[in-house]
Amino acid sequence: MFVCKVIVSVLALLLCSVRAYDEFCSIAVEDPLAELSVGELIERANTNIYRDSDEPTLVEGDIAVSDDNARNADPCTSRGCMWPKSSDGKVYVPYVILNQYSSSELQVIQRGLDSFSSFSCIRFVPRSNQRDYVSIESRNGCYSYVGRIGNAQTVSLARSGCVYHKTVQHELLHALGFNHEQTRSDRDSYIRVGWENIQSGMEHNFNKIATLNQGTPYDYNSVMQYHRTAFSKNGLPTMIPIPDPNVSFGQASQMSQNDITRLNRLYSC
Ligand SMILES: [Zn+2]
Repeated sequence: MFVCKVIVSVLALLLCSVRAYDEFCSIAVEDPLAELSVGELIERANTNIYRDSDEPTLVEGDIAVSDDNARNADPCTSRGCMWPKSSDGKVYVPYVILNQYSSSELQVIQRGLDSFSSFSCIRFVPRSNQRDYVSIESRNGCYSYVGRIGNAQTVSLARSGCVYHKTVQHELLHALGFNHEQTRSDRDSYIRVGWENIQSGMEHNFNKIATLNQGTPYDYNSVMQYHRTAFSKNGLPTMIPIPDPNVSFGQASQMSQNDITRLNRLYSC
């Protein structure tokens, strides 16, 4: 019996190395990473990785910054980093997806892109000739710039570890102008940062930002909220909820209602 299981597993792995068998593989091989929280996935994918010389500097885990712009909704939204609204009330965000993904990975990415049209006026649309657009690529790790930066802007969803519904929504929310929940201007009322447990040099990940919170409450279930031990040096919490330190947080499998409300308010959907 055991031998039989091993043979099936080996066969599944062999088949799954061939792209044509994607459909079969999504059923045959369970992905243990799928159980991780969005923050854990991002931290895992972005730790100790080689980075190409043309890739941007990352801050706060997965936020890309270019040299000339060390730039809840980021203050940049009041300075023009939002995507423009069309006369029909929709916000069209052109995208391309580089030809690097398997068909099942493409399905996950497409589902993430399309999800926005079901609860907001955001419409991710295949790029034709628009100047500004999102380029979805499998680079080294998961990352995105915050807001529209002009011309092509990379949203990296590495094939190894970033292609999940929650990570797709998370990175796209960055591109739409949102920051992490734990950097919100009002976060000190909802989480205590365990500075004593943060890896040396990683403290900047917990800098507060003058975010525009759109009248929405701090949300432990936001897809932009990292997990309890993010950037921990010793496995102890780097974020402790207030007032109940035991409340669960950072475990969202998709955008929360508050994420949706915030998006709709920022873009006046
Ligand atoms: Zn992020």
